[in-house]
Amino acid sequence: MKCPICGKPATPEHKPFCSRRCAEIDLGRWLNDSYALPAPPEQEDEEQE
Ligand SMILES: [Zn+2]
Repeated sequence: MKCPICGKPATPEHKPFCSRRCAEIDLGRWLNDSYALPAPPEQEDEEQE
């Protein structure tokens, strides 16, 4: 199994990641995704009259 973050072989201690660092990176991405969902995307390029 390869680490989904960096592609290195995963270790049993941190699988499916290769290290705690990569596990934390993935957790951060997951949290960012969940926080991003409720907020509507800002589109300041749109012109409204
Ligand atoms: Zn990794």
